[in-house]
Amino acid sequence: MRALVVEDEKHIAKFVQRGLREHSFAVDVAHDGESGLSLALSEEYDVIILDILLPRLDGKKVLSAIRADGLATPVIMLTAVDSVRSKVEVLDMGADDYVTKPFSTSELMARIRSLHRRSTARQQPELEVADLALDPASHQVTRGGRKIELTVTEYSLLYLLMENAGHPVTRTMIIEHVWDRNFDSFTNVVDVHVSRLRGKIDREFDKKLIHTIKGVGYVLAAEK
Ligand code: CA
Repeated sequence: MRALVVEDEKHIAKFVQRGLREHSFAVDVAHDGESGLSLALSEEYDVIILDILLPRLDGKKVLSAIRADGLATPVIMLTAVDSVRSKVEVLDMGADDYVTKPFSTSELMARIRSLHRRSTARQQPELEVADLALDPASHQVTRGGRKIELTVTEYSLLYLLMENAGHPVTRTMIIEHVWDRNFDSFTNVVDVHVSRLRGKIDREFDKKLIHTIKGVGYVLAAEK
């Protein structure tokens, strides 16, 4: 899971970033509206946390531009003033939710989880490849009916592989979907996580589902 935080108050940005990272999100931060918008339009995020009062371009304009571009990424607005008018305004403008400052990490996480539940219930059916199943609504993964415990990174990785089942998933795709921009692509962290995932998904089973495509990446498929 990948998040973008657009907030000019550095201590709040840091606090949100830390909270999200503790919940295994990959997090990018922008400190003004313009750079936030350009990140939102050029990278892929699962959620955008957007402050309203921002230098260069305010949060409402950023949100309008994001929606005008056709991006449906869930957006949670940070509102400084607890005024009904601005809440109604941001929801009407296409934000999915908002939190009022000051807020706690647990409140923000609860909002993100609830957004995620709503969007997964709406759009994402259970994924199945052979006897491997992933339920986006409950985050539960089973193989042969047996429950498999995954870390959040492993889950994101498996989700990406299952979504593209039968098609190659490149290292670049994995890096873009599972890690943030500070990710050092020269390390072998992708391979390490794939290897851990294999340990949980494939090791005890005769039929292997995750296959390496030399020089490209990986594919998840029942038949190689
Ligand atoms: Ca601000």
